[in-house]
Amino acid sequence: MVTRALPKSSTCLRPADYLSYLGAPVPPAETAQAAAARVRGPVLPRRQIVATPTGRHALWAFLELVDLQPGAEVIVPAYNFYVIVRLLVQRGLRPVFADVEPDTLCLDPRAVAAVLGPRTRMVLVTHIYGHPADLTAIRALCDRRGLLLFEDCAHAVGTRCAGEQVGQTGDGALFSFGVEKLINSFGGGLLAVAPARAAAVPAIAPDPSRWHAVTDSLTRLGYTVAMSPAVYRATVHPAARVLGVVAPGLRRRIRDFFEPSKDDPAYRFSPAERPGYRGFMARLQARQLARLDANLARRRALVARMRAGLARIPEVAPLDMDRHGRANASYFAVRVPDATRLAAHLVARGIGAHPREFLDCAALVQFEDFQAACPVAHAATSRIVRLPSYPALTDEDADRIVAEVARFFAEPA
Ligand SMILES: *Cc1c(COP(=O)(O)O)cnc(C)c1O
Repeated sequence: MVTRALPKSSTCLRPADYLSYLGAPVPPAETAQAAAARVRGPVLPRRQIVATPTGRHALWAFLELVDLQPGAEVIVPAYNFYVIVRLLVQRGLRPVFADVEPDTLCLDPRAVAAVLGPRTRMVLVTHIYGHPADLTAIRALCDRRGLLLFEDCAHAVGTRCAGEQVGQTGDGALFSFGVEKLINSFGGGLLAVAPARAAAVPAIAPDPSRWHAVTDSLTRLGYTVAMSPAVYRATVHPAARVLGVVAPGLRRRIRDFFEPSKDDPAYRFSPAERPGYRGFMARLQARQLARLDANLARRRALVARMRAGLARIPEVAPLDMDRHGRANASYFAVRVPDATRLAAHLVARGIGAHPREFLDCAALVQFEDFQAACPVAHAATSRIVRLPSYPALTDEDADRIVAEVARFFAEPA
């Protein structure tokens, strides 16, 4: 049987977009900062933009800017990307884990209220999977207690809350343009801050070396090309199948090299390790932003179609991605009894699926000093799986994904 192999996520870059990178390997005359600022205009009108090498650099820069006392507490959603929590710990802050809402997987304002204490200085919300968090309730809480609010918008370009792009309610917000994100410029990130604060943002560490900068972005460009559906289908997928048979250990090593890791207890952030924000990134982003509405409309249509199909399967519980606004549908997460088993079934049939992409950080060994019981986040770790939802999918691809999920649950265990 011939099947169309579908990567789990895919870039929305078009061939002509790559010319922004390939056509201008030499740094342009304009500074990267100015280019980044021009991209901002239509997207984050109420914020000043600081271009950063990655999304995590944006959080780091914000933490340097606000300079909290060591031991100050920052409330974070337990269901999270471990890197974010690591950065807080590395700055000498105490992460205080709060549980997430079952339907959105975003920080639950009631859980925030329950863990607020005299040493709380900041609340960090994550618009996880592009679902808007309850910014209205959380901002009100922060205002009552004089707390800083930071928004992790790594998944949330195009996500709206009260009709506006998220990232403009908090005192600071990060955006990421890594290879797996909705807008991909082979790396790069942005810190969004209120205009009054922007002048004080500390400078980001300069490029380690020009050679390093070039190889770094070339690696990411290679990953991006490999994950475009046609290339993936013709090369990566068959090669991975062969390697899986003849050298499974090698296949794992190659995958670990390219894929962003989901948990690494030894991870430490080092600001100088990544090259700086480069001019081509702003040009790549601008081209994708010009198509953002069509991109999101297609993702939302695909997700609506798959949700309708999955509604017949009692084991699949839908989330409420629009509870507090309008999600960008950049990720399509569903709740099932065993995410790992379903993902293995789909992958064996050529459908990329992502289990355990985010974890209950309150239960990770490296954060055991900050342990907390967060049952919703804990269950989500093993029960949430991400299905493909990128615009290169056809309606037939979407129907096939639904049919394979249905087949998995119809088969005897
Ligand atoms: C990718 C990601 C980030 C950080 O992005 P980088 O550019 O890789 O530093 C932050 N938070 C979440 C939830 C992410 O998925």
